[in-house]
Amino acid sequence: MKQSQTLLPTLKEVPADADIKSHQLLLRAGFIRQTASGVYSFLPLGKRVLRKVEEIVRDEMDKAGANEMFMPALQPAELWKETGRWNNFGPELMRLHDRHDREFALGATHEEVITSLVRDEVKSYKRLPLTLYQIQTKFRDEKRPRFGLLRGREFVMKDAYSFHDSFDSLDETYSKMYQAYSNIFSRCGLNFRAVIADSGAMGGKDTHEFMVLSDVGEDTIAYSDTSNYAANIEMAPVTQEYKQLDIPLKDMEKVETPNQRTMQEVADFLGHSLEQGLKALMFKVDESLVLVITRGDHEVNDIKLKNLYNASVVELATETETKEVLGASFGSLGPIGVNEKIDVVADTAVQYVVNVSCGANEDGFHYKNVNPGRDFNVKEYADLRFIKEGDPSPDGNGTIKFARGIEVGHVFKLGKFYAEKMGATFLDDQGKANTMIMGCYGIGVSRTLAAIVEQFHDEKGITWPTNVAPFQVHLLSINAKNEEQKQLADELYQMLQEAGMEVLYDDRKERAGVKFADSDLVGIPFRITVGKRANEGYVEFKVRNTGDQTDLHQSDILNKIKELLEI
Ligand code: ATP
Ligand code: MG
Repeated sequence: MKQSQTLLPTLKEVPADADIKSHQLLLRAGFIRQTASGVYSFLPLGKRVLRKVEEIVRDEMDKAGANEMFMPALQPAELWKETGRWNNFGPELMRLHDRHDREFALGATHEEVITSLVRDEVKSYKRLPLTLYQIQTKFRDEKRPRFGLLRGREFVMKDAYSFHDSFDSLDETYSKMYQAYSNIFSRCGLNFRAVIADSGAMGGKDTHEFMVLSDVGEDTIAYSDTSNYAANIEMAPVTQEYKQLDIPLKDMEKVETPNQRTMQEVADFLGHSLEQGLKALMFKVDESLVLVITRGDHEVNDIKLKNLYNASVVELATETETKEVLGASFGSLGPIGVNEKIDVVADTAVQYVVNVSCGANEDGFHYKNVNPGRDFNVKEYADLRFIKEGDPSPDGNGTIKFARGIEVGHVFKLGKFYAEKMGATFLDDQGKANTMIMGCYGIGVSRTLAAIVEQFHDEKGITWPTNVAPFQVHLLSINAKNEEQKQLADELYQMLQEAGMEVLYDDRKERAGVKFADSDLVGIPFRITVGKRANEGYVEFKVRNTGDQTDLHQSDILNKIKELLEI
């Protein structure tokens, strides 16, 4: 492709509203442009990379036995009503009306469409298992679209769905998909990790997320420093065993704690460690209010709370709501004397505290020397806190450390959730009707593109891994007005293309400095510069990610590239 004839608008300045490297560089290097908040156009180079990632995904999906299809983005509300998700999906689902005032959604995901299709077309166990996938635009009205392609409102996803007559068959496909995902992200050059994830209220058992390791990731991975255990912090169980302290219980005492709101403030004011205070937070768990107690140095894990109650929505109650039922503001809440209508649940660690402090449910007051069992009771002790660095690894090997990750893929055993709701059944070999068993497998294709840039860049620009680079070779002529240079560059352009190389040819009438800076920014793996030695047939050859640079004769170029590409 000739650079003079394409749309490749590079920017010198870092765009003001782009906070992270991948967003900044994809804008600066002319790969994407924002059309609306969380909505992007892919310019020619961006589209090329997207296609490369898609091709890797397709190849691995096909090898794993999945079949490509294409489903509509426009989906009738009736389908979503069948599963109850028309109501439950919430404001993330983009909704619209047609001219006859019929309701539609823009597909945020395709379980409903695919399940209705398979329900109508597959009736016998003989047609199972079946795995179908598509690469398609998804719409989600995210609360906070940000970080460019990482969290968009319109984005490209590969979604696959598998249908089975037994859980064994689902397990088999699940592990094939898991392997295909590992292959895909390896081929994209990414440093990633598959982690155990939360399966939520879907009823599925196994679920793994594929995380690209990156400091800008929104997820925290808890991993063992010695074994291969890794889980999303959301679901990592705490297996720490707490010791029963053998010290005398002191008398409980009510003390004034004026203007002390945070756990740290109260601890400092009362002169004890964070661990010696109890934290109380009021949550709305579906329709009910639940007061959750943890130790002051621990954080409530709302996913664990949600799973404990098998709830669909868990959120913090507002201060007004809390005050209404407990009579005190945040900062003075505690488990003592709580109205019986409100569930009080506590993290396991709370059972083992001795002589601790807690809010008195009266603004500006706390109790000292509080002891569970003697001074308050809870409905249930359960694992309700986030795992911490230094906690024992749940698999019994080593201790936990944290890393940040970008979730690029998700494999999920759905079980019978959708098939049951939508009546997707098959006849088994006895002629008996059974509910189908399903799995689903997503990859954020556009998010993966951005994740690659997060891992592959330097101070000058992007450093694309060869498998996903928009072109393999960036050909520059230093002085397009010089006939010899132009002629050699034209010749090389033709020769490389004939040899099957993808070449971006910077034939623009720009200064050499501009061309070099743009070339570094765009990040194509190999750069060939035709300059002063054109008359001898020599060019400068540079490898973008290592900076290695040599003078090469034109007859050696192709071999050099093939050697570096290992082809
Ligand atoms: P997240 O927790 O990041 O919101 P999710 O759990 O909602 O992700 P899934 O429904 O499992 O995501 O979607 C499958 C894949 O689609 C995700 O693994 C992710 O890579 C990608 N994805 C999800 N939401 C977005 C988004 N807003 N923008 C870009 N990619 C996304
Ligand atoms: Mg989401």
